[in-house]
Amino acid sequence: MAWWIQTLEMLDESDKPTGTWRLAAVSDEKPARRIPLCECDHKTMEGARDCETARKHAVHYQSR
Ligand SMILES: [Zn+2]
Repeated sequence: MAWWIQTLEMLDESDKPTGTWRLAAVSDEKPARRIPLCECDHKTMEGARDCETARKHAVHYQSR
């Protein structure tokens, strides 16, 4: 199994985009698992991508 690091827009309970972004680890399984790498509500993709907390967790997935 492989993981990709992607910047995803968060969805609410009814799968509507919330306008907030997080870096997430996405697996290549079907269906794919998506694991958010931080608990912030970043207002931009760039902010999510540069998040220090998310970056720290991303290393864990990239090493597999
Ligand atoms: Zn964050």
